[in-house]
Amino acid sequence: MLFEFEDSTLEPIYEKVNAGTRLSYEDGVTLWQSHDLLGVGFMANIVRERLNGDKTYFIHNRHINPTNICVLSCQFCAFGVKADHPQAYEKSLEEIFSDAEKYNGGEVSEFHIVGGLHPDYPFEYYLDLLRGLKERFPLVHIQAYTAVELEYLSRLANLPIKETLVILKDAGLGSIPGGGAEVFAKRVRRKICGDKITGEEWLQVHEIAHLAGLKSNAVGSYPGIYSSGIGIPFPSGKSSYKRNPGNVKGCGFGLHSWGWRGGFCKTGAPKNLRRQDNR
Ligand code: SF4
Repeated sequence: MLFEFEDSTLEPIYEKVNAGTRLSYEDGVTLWQSHDLLGVGFMANIVRERLNGDKTYFIHNRHINPTNICVLSCQFCAFGVKADHPQAYEKSLEEIFSDAEKYNGGEVSEFHIVGGLHPDYPFEYYLDLLRGLKERFPLVHIQAYTAVELEYLSRLANLPIKETLVILKDAGLGSIPGGGAEVFAKRVRRKICGDKITGEEWLQVHEIAHLAGLKSNAVGSYPGIYSSGIGIPFPSGKSSYKRNPGNVKGCGFGLHSWGWRGGFCKTGAPKNLRRQDNR
């Protein structure tokens, strides 16, 4: 091996990655705890090149956040506010379409739409948003509505998740963003976003989306009040293994089912924890 790991606990994992053997949950914990970022990256690149060769793809996307008003109050969230908050905003569909024109839709390859769980928007708003963008920018992929939003939309539509997704897909939905995969450990999730759908429900929404032909991402913020192991939030968690064994494509690093496009963690800003001014 040309590469020398700084952290020798990664070496057994390297053997598995090289052999194309599936990593265990415990391996995930080891990776998570390791300070050897180059070592982890080296192994990730082995898998990446195995899957994609020497190619790298870029998405030129624009984020659309229709509203920051949200019925929930997740403790780490610096985005969602209540309607009477001075920074609360709501964008009409026309405003969003006009913003999208300014983004020069021809250059943009994807619109990425996420927002707060608005207390009053009807389901049709979300459909009309997709339809309106698709009409104006038929070639631009639309990745929209996290699992948390989709579960909320299914309640607005009074339909099961699957039917809701089929309707949204017909309206132009192309794939699902990964938001809401904050720590899945129940103890921590209850503390940081106790009113949100559970980790299990989040996985179910994504699984249903995959079965409906929609690919998805997994994104977790880690806001700093958890310990080793529970920062392995993604579908490397055991439930997805159990439910979908036939659909597993060993990629070595956790995200394995045919419906996943990618997963990553992002840090939460400690100063945004426990914001009291927006509830
Ligand atoms: S993270 Fe929580 S509070 Fe923030 S927008 Fe999403 S659901 Fe609302």
